[in-house]
Amino acid sequence: MAALKQTKYFKNNTWLAPKYRPQIISRRHLNLQEYHSKDLLKKHQVTIQNFRLLDASLDPKSLSDFKANEYVVKAQILAGGRGKGHFDNGFKGGVHLTKDPKEILSLAKNMIGHKLITKQTPQDGILVDKVMVAESVDIVRETYFSIVMERSYNGAALVASPAGGMDIETVAEKTPHLLKTVPIDIHEGITDSVAKEVAEFLEFKGPLVNKCAEEIKKLWQLFLKVDATQLEINPLVETDDGRVVAVDAKINFDDNAQFRQKDIFALDDPTGTDPREREAAALNLSFIDMDGSIGCMVNGAGLAMATMDLIVLSGGKPANFLDLGGGVGKAQVSAALRILESDPKVKTIFVNVFGGIINCATIADGIIAACKETPPKNPLVIRLEGNNSAAAKKILEESGLPFSIINDADEAAKYAVKLAQKS
Ligand code: GDP
Ligand code: MG
Repeated sequence: MAALKQTKYFKNNTWLAPKYRPQIISRRHLNLQEYHSKDLLKKHQVTIQNFRLLDASLDPKSLSDFKANEYVVKAQILAGGRGKGHFDNGFKGGVHLTKDPKEILSLAKNMIGHKLITKQTPQDGILVDKVMVAESVDIVRETYFSIVMERSYNGAALVASPAGGMDIETVAEKTPHLLKTVPIDIHEGITDSVAKEVAEFLEFKGPLVNKCAEEIKKLWQLFLKVDATQLEINPLVETDDGRVVAVDAKINFDDNAQFRQKDIFALDDPTGTDPREREAAALNLSFIDMDGSIGCMVNGAGLAMATMDLIVLSGGKPANFLDLGGGVGKAQVSAALRILESDPKVKTIFVNVFGGIINCATIADGIIAACKETPPKNPLVIRLEGNNSAAAKKILEESGLPFSIINDADEAAKYAVKLAQKS
């Protein structure tokens, strides 16, 4: 096996990505609801629970031929942590078990049409419009298994942990010895011995080792076939009747593969996603919500991550980031600023733009237009470098608006953090 490059985020074969990184990466790639992901798993012969779907019509007919000893009722949203979440109507938990088929509809009623709030959703939650009803499995153990495109390895890697069912970032932070990362050569794929090694690390024993190895190999085939960037099964469980079952599934897809994954991209369902995200997407911008206090306007995912790093290293936390991308116009910049301003968590706005294709003067014009229309609630720290930056700074200075224009990115981040802490 090739030696791993050790980086700040990848030490002792352990993936130590800061919380926001996977969020940034995954949210930029198509994300499917659990029931869609499980349809794909089933097509690739991965062992899942049989299931049906209920929508807002709560039509019992959709369950008429569905019988099980016990059922699991699961709210469908594009975020994890549902089991431990709660609804805006006070109902607790987005995952419920019941043996009584009559109770299914009442559980679903508490979920559909309400917002589910979890650690991974925006603060006010995500509206649930579908519920999965699956035959429950009796779980002996929960493990974690995922395949991700890992930048520090320039390719795919398996990430596995016998401590499944919980927040994997916490496992990485608190008990890194329970997390194993195995880089995979894309041409070689997952060999029998790697699949077995991972199954054993997941603490499967006896005949379950081979069963788990088979599931892992099928998941790898699926990962390749659908151009996934991340495929996460949390939990991959051992059942009391000696099976290995994928109980939860999250798959992200490479947006660049849209042309050859048309059926999958057609499943993209924006209902329930953050309205600001949709508003930004309609303007060809990408918005990602986080939980800090600094609103970030940047261009490009690389600069976005560097900006997040600078803020975190300066002792602050990003509230969100809005990626302007390449060829934006003045109106889009103004709209971007309004989206950031509308976030009540935001205490300071940090504009960090490097003009390559983008003309910095366009950014300056867009910011000024938005501020003239509605005076900004938050202080703005602006760093513009690159294409036409001198003219842009002049435009900002001459506007008479109270911007803090700082050339050095480090210094600008520190100042934005200081302002956010003051207010
Ligand atoms: P998440 O909370 O959004 O990650 O949703 P999951 O699908 O992972 O479910 C959360 C937790 O509910 C799992 O970790 C299990 O502990 C439990 N759970 C889910 N499905 C079943 C099931 O069929 N049987 C049992 N006994 N527990 C389940
Ligand atoms: Mg889960």
